[in-house]
Amino acid sequence: MLLTPRILDRELGTIGGDRARWVALETRLAGFREALEREPVDESDEDAATRTYVSRLAGAGLLALMVPAEYGGAAERVSSTAICLTRQWLARTSGALDTAFVMQGLGSYPVTLAGRDELRATLLPKVARGEAICAFALTEPGAGSDIKAMQTIARPGEDGGVVLDGEKCFISNAGVATSYVVFAREQQEGEGGKPRFGAFWVPGDAPGLSVERAQVIAPHPIGAVRFDGVRVPAAHRLGERGHGLRIALGNLDVFRVSVGAAALGLADRALEVTVEHLQRRVQFGKPLARQQGLQFALADVCTDHVAAQLLVYRAAAARDRQTATPDQAAMAKMYATESAQRAIDRAVQSLGGLGVTVGQVPERLYREIRALRIYEGTTEIQKLVIARALLA
Ligand SMILES: Cc1cc2nc3c(=O)[nH]c(=O)nc-3n(C[C@H](O)[C@H](O)[C@H](O)COP(=O)(O)OP(=O)(O)OC[C@H]3O[C@@H](n4cnc5c(N)ncnc54)[C@H](O)[C@@H]3O)c2cc1C
Repeated sequence: MLLTPRILDRELGTIGGDRARWVALETRLAGFREALEREPVDESDEDAATRTYVSRLAGAGLLALMVPAEYGGAAERVSSTAICLTRQWLARTSGALDTAFVMQGLGSYPVTLAGRDELRATLLPKVARGEAICAFALTEPGAGSDIKAMQTIARPGEDGGVVLDGEKCFISNAGVATSYVVFAREQQEGEGGKPRFGAFWVPGDAPGLSVERAQVIAPHPIGAVRFDGVRVPAAHRLGERGHGLRIALGNLDVFRVSVGAAALGLADRALEVTVEHLQRRVQFGKPLARQQGLQFALADVCTDHVAAQLLVYRAAAARDRQTATPDQAAMAKMYATESAQRAIDRAVQSLGGLGVTVGQVPERLYREIRALRIYEGTTEIQKLVIARALLA
């Protein structure tokens, strides 16, 4: 059921644009997947797996999608559609692989958006070549959905730079990253009584930066990052003073919808294993697939899945055409992640005892889908975005 943008374009004209580009990308992704099947990566060491995946993604030219052509990237502008298509293919294979891919973009796009020329020229080609591993540090123990509650502080330092103090948590690639984009409060109150925030680039080996790793339910390098008097030169500030949240939101414009695309990849795989199993498994003298009750469940999953794809690629195409509204990505992310969770739960149920057996595909998918409904804005936060657009 991999309903790619190419097929959607043919059927519904949702994508438009350069069709040859999507064909070329899908061919490359199919080749990449075949190579991985021939030589799988051991994910038991999360950091080593991340480094290997980043290097292999770079070798296949896929990290070039995260960087503009001017800095060694694939196209003039970073394309949400290309990122969505890639995440849908990669997530089918492995959540850790998908994370290694997307973090290169999530952790470097703020530099593309707002970094000084010299920083862009130094960092971005390394991102595309897989020589830098990126992280994006926004969440804090007291600031999850409510990002304006962040307490990490950027105090004025020498020569126009700043000094960072504070703690971030749930930071993907914490410890394995060589490049961090960090958001911090600049001073307690700005004009109009509102707090002001800045965005900064920090190398992974900066003195004063330390990491405490955590473990989540699916393979995913993650942890808390502390900043104890970390000096950041003026050249590593991203954008203007006080523009940090604007940069964080600009990043989400590109990447939030792609969480929905990763969920599509997981749902694709869930549907595939469900259909295979129901056709093969015989109970009561016939394959389970011939039970109407199970056919009804499959029809619901399949319809949900196609609807999710339409929402995801509609939002990605709108962003690439620069006509997107925030509710489009919010609907896509919410619907695709929630419906993928339902599809995967259905896969587990359809396989019976095998569905909860460690090492079986549905068991992996069941653990991998869960975080997608939480990061880059929980389902509840997406509902607030959608309602805000409706009630404006
Ligand atoms: C695997 C994983 C990877 C992550 N990677 C990163 C990363 O790389 N960088 C980064 O900065 N962060 C990252 N995060 C953090 C993630 O973005 C946050 O977990 C998320 O924003 C939610 O914040 P929280 O966990 O503090 O939950 P909270 O904000 O405390 O929310 C708890 C619950 O309350 C609900 N809730 C909160 N506010 C409202 C409201 N106003 N109305 C209704 N319901 C509400 C939420 O929806 C949620 O269900 C990651 C998280 C995970 C799980």
